Amino acid sequence: MFEGKFYNGRTSKGMPAFITLEHNYIRVNWQAGEESGTEIWYLTDIHKTEFNDATTVLEYGDFPRQSIAVHEQDFKDTLQQKYSGAKFLSSTYSSFARTGVKGLLIGGLLLLGLAVGLFFWGIPSLAEKAAAHFPEEYERALGEKLHAQMMQGYTIDSAKTEAVRQYLAGLTIESDFQIHVTVVKDDQVNAFAIPGGFVVVHDAILDEMESHEELGGLLGHEIGHVQMRHSTKALTRSLSYYMLLSVLFGDVSGIAAVIVDNASALYNLEYSRTAESDSDKAGLELLVQNNLDPNGMVWLMERLNVAAPEFLKFISTHPNTSDRIAALEAQIEKINYKPVPNPQLEEAWAKLKAD
Ligand SMILES: [Zn+2]
Repeated sequence: MFEGKFYNGRTSKGMPAFITLEHNYIRVNWQAGEESGTEIWYLTDIHKTEFNDATTVLEYGDFPRQSIAVHEQDFKDTLQQKYSGAKFLSSTYSSFARTGVKGLLIGGLLLLGLAVGLFFWGIPSLAEKAAAHFPEEYERALGEKLHAQMMQGYTIDSAKTEAVRQYLAGLTIESDFQIHVTVVKDDQVNAFAIPGGFVVVHDAILDEMESHEELGGLLGHEIGHVQMRHSTKALTRSLSYYMLLSVLFGDVSGIAAVIVDNASALYNLEYSRTAESDSDKAGLELLVQNNLDPNGMVWLMERLNVAAPEFLKFISTHPNTSDRIAALEAQIEKINYKPVPNPQLEEAWAKLKAD
């Protein structure tokens, strides 16, 4: 008998369990508070997903897919002795959530036909529509994971992060999400939004700016992406096949894992022209609402257009710069605005530009 954890596939909580290896099945006796139960796992429906010295994870059935995790080296050895030749011991089956995209591509060529078929059925746009209705807590939790994963590849500039946060704190913002901004050291003139309110700003884009209204405009633009769920929608759209497969195979909890595994997709997300112009508008509105010169948005665009044509990640993933400038100028002409000096923002800006 072995001790391990049992997962019933409906909740993510592991329950203490005793596992007994019988002749042609595995018996799992689990206990959860007052409740307890026995599961009989026939060998033919068992799959193994982790099989290393420290941990063995077996999965059973389709939906809800149960699993057990045993942290005893003996367990693996005993399995191999007792069930030598059993199919599940040699199976390469594994959960999409754990293998991520690469494993899926290698193992899933057969599913390609299915995916192609689904493409024409409009799965990406369905997924995108669904994304617009993700609960905020879900989006935030997803964003937190993505953000944590992405930050591992970056060096955070804490002084500049603090200054930009101070700047942000001085702004009146309307958003469903609490905006969490981080400045990272990166030569690429870029900034982007992550689902759930996370905004990442490269220090190189800050270096290009010459007035604080440009920063206000940039933040307003990215907050616009956050508020309108652009990154969540685009991510969901580009990963919709993997998500669908996760659902088909009963691995609902795998969806978040798949997205997190593919955090790098965020760098290459392309928003639609409409998404960009809507966010430009949001940037403009943020400036106006805060009694700042809305031309900050135009200055930002022009500066980036002239200053770093080869590294215009911000511009190139944000296409049609001159059109956008023209659209912004047309909007500004129609607004009545009266910029008011804002000492709090200027102080934060001075800190940002101090070194
Ligand atoms: Zn954008």
